[in-house]
Amino acid sequence: MVRRARTAAVILAVATTTAAPVATPPFTGRYVPDRTGHPCALRAVPGVTMSEGFPPDHSVYARATGRVRALVLFVDFPDAQAPSSAQHRYREFFPAATRWFDTSSYGKLDYQPHPVMKYFRMPRSFSAYGVERGYGWPVHERMMQDLLTVADPEIDFSRYDLVNVLVTPNAGPPAQRSVLSVTWTGATAAVSDEGARLDKVSVLYSHDAAGHRVLNHENAHIFGLPDLYAERDFRRTDQWAGQWDMMSLDWGLHGDFLAWHKWKLGWIDDRQVDCVYRRGTTEHTVTPVELPGGTKLVVIPVHDSGAFALEVRSRHGNDRAGCREGVLLYWVRTDVPSGQGPVRVLDANPDTEACSDSSVGFNSRNDAPFGVGQEYRHEPTRTLVKVVSRDRQGRYTVRVTKG
Ligand SMILES: [Zn+2]
Repeated sequence: MVRRARTAAVILAVATTTAAPVATPPFTGRYVPDRTGHPCALRAVPGVTMSEGFPPDHSVYARATGRVRALVLFVDFPDAQAPSSAQHRYREFFPAATRWFDTSSYGKLDYQPHPVMKYFRMPRSFSAYGVERGYGWPVHERMMQDLLTVADPEIDFSRYDLVNVLVTPNAGPPAQRSVLSVTWTGATAAVSDEGARLDKVSVLYSHDAAGHRVLNHENAHIFGLPDLYAERDFRRTDQWAGQWDMMSLDWGLHGDFLAWHKWKLGWIDDRQVDCVYRRGTTEHTVTPVELPGGTKLVVIPVHDSGAFALEVRSRHGNDRAGCREGVLLYWVRTDVPSGQGPVRVLDANPDTEACSDSSVGFNSRNDAPFGVGQEYRHEPTRTLVKVVSRDRQGRYTVRVTKG
């Protein structure tokens, strides 16, 4: 869920936790290539929470390339005392979360966790804070100020780019009942004695079904990515991005990010993105998102805040448990906020689902990828995408026609 702090900054709460018509883009307006940057990097829309557009706002979000120093703290409470060691809690998330970032970023993100390996006892009882799903800014502010009271004397907060607070797992309900994990960015909850602002904080609760991936998901908000799940009607997630991105279902079978997100994070560079904005027919050979190198993304802008995007997904890396391989086609909107469907995956096989024997649920889009010979035609924008071939390295050649 997403909310605004009283400081008017963006606060993200958030969590992890059917066949509808294929996403229907609005077709008013037209696309004017942006001469100032990469032509298909649609501009972020001001005021849209965590817009899918460019450029990333580094006044609010942390950079996701190079060295990122993540402070990891552990907290418990007088009425919820840690049942095991900080090391034990730490191992729920690390080193797996670090490896996940390394793999997904092709080594471009050097994520360095810095744990202070002990539990800090918060001065108030857990129940006194009033933590519940979607809890508000005043609760977070009180917790962060109390955290500084107990932790600031021994920690120099100015040495870190972000903070992960791992809450003792017995505080609050189990994650299966209510997901409390949340990220706060864009407003300062407390200031350390070195003058460091606590404005990029993920707070992790309970034992989440996503395991370490809940931390990857929450930290990705600190890097500026929006939620792709349906915040108001969670079941709708099945018709939006399903299991195709960690910002949708972080316990999904396809555990990587969409190429669009990797591009936003700086893990894919502009040369790996083919931009199709002129009329005519073009062919593109695209390599799997999970493997380094090659063309990763084809973008077909429709207007200034909407584009079709396509990529190849395969069972490698963070997608090794994936359900289906092939060409994944989706619709990106930069004017739709986090949690309200900025990305809609287009389903090549809308009448069927796949891998429904997995425990994940939300399976209608598991067979969304287009295979060789399949095509997608969108009359309102006179766009035709056809998958022409697949080579032995798993690269797909795709033909795009714009009328
Ligand atoms: Zn989220």
